[in-house]
Amino acid sequence: MKYIDEYRNKELIRIISDKIRSVLTKQISIMEICGGQTHTILKYNLEEFLPAKINLIHGPGCPVCVTPIDYIDKAIELSMKDDVILVSFGDMLRVPGSEKDLLSARANGGNVRMVYSPLDSVKIASENPDTKVVFFAVGFETTAPANARAVIEADRLGLINYYMLCSHMLVPPAIEALMSNNKVKLDGLLAAGHVCTVMGLREYELLSEKFKMPVVAMGFEPLDIMNAIYMVVNQIEENRFDVENQYSRTVTREGNAHAIEIINKVFTKEDREWRGIGVIKNSGLKLRNEYSKYDALLNFDFEKKETMVIGNCIAGEILQGLNKPAQCSSFGKECKPEHPLGAPMVSSEGACAAYFRYKRSKN
Ligand code: SF4
Repeated sequence: MKYIDEYRNKELIRIISDKIRSVLTKQISIMEICGGQTHTILKYNLEEFLPAKINLIHGPGCPVCVTPIDYIDKAIELSMKDDVILVSFGDMLRVPGSEKDLLSARANGGNVRMVYSPLDSVKIASENPDTKVVFFAVGFETTAPANARAVIEADRLGLINYYMLCSHMLVPPAIEALMSNNKVKLDGLLAAGHVCTVMGLREYELLSEKFKMPVVAMGFEPLDIMNAIYMVVNQIEENRFDVENQYSRTVTREGNAHAIEIINKVFTKEDREWRGIGVIKNSGLKLRNEYSKYDALLNFDFEKKETMVIGNCIAGEILQGLNKPAQCSSFGKECKPEHPLGAPMVSSEGACAAYFRYKRSKN
């Protein structure tokens, strides 16, 4: 297929829906990892095309949602320093920290700027040599290469006023932690196509083998998702647990060698806390020692503060697929996109925002 509307064609979706119904014999739970895919499922009402025997569980793949509160508090603290410009992607500005978000910090005099590309933060640093510029780098394997590129560029320019507050997360260790949690019951996994485009499929082969779990790397359009569900259902019905590639128009088994190389050149793994979930071994990226002069955590003093969750937010349970947004007592009441209590109501990839936007009226 060549055009986007073909991937949204209702007749084709119905054909795959019939195929799924014709092979599925039992009750199953499948997790889609990525919040972008959760939004597609809700936006196109794909659950209506699926048999009731399929329970779709929404996973932790929203980078804004899993950024630890402590990092947001630190970003806010940096923004309030006289000699600092805090630079971030727009999504991060409204994510609540312990007491406030970056947008409120800006309203209270904090120097916060929004960018669309990590290289913009390098440009700001080169244009403001007397000010320290800190880029709040969040995201999964998908954004890591561009952020690594920004550090290399700052180094090439010899900038001495550029820093990175690095909250990068890695998806496979989080999946492994979820699968090791007895409360999370899964029969199949839909892996995020963009992460697999960068990293390839090898890590998922290890996970699939370890947990005897069918895995399908999946794209982002409605037909991609229906097709990937059909592939997982077939594996379950045939008692197979393979890694299959639905998103073959961009994903290869090896991934993007150049992107992986640049990530490994700049970053190294460390244990990292996931908001609402806890610390997951080797699930974060930090700057390598060679680039430690750019590490904001090592080059600024921070106040020691206890972090707090606002209200009754159960984001941790939602991010682990243990509950759905509508089961949160604050959903659509105290917590709405214009007044979010938790990160999943803020982000364009957050499950609570998706339910509010596409499903609230039905509930
Ligand atoms: S609806 Fe709001 S309060 Fe409830 S889990 Fe989602 S973000 Fe948290």
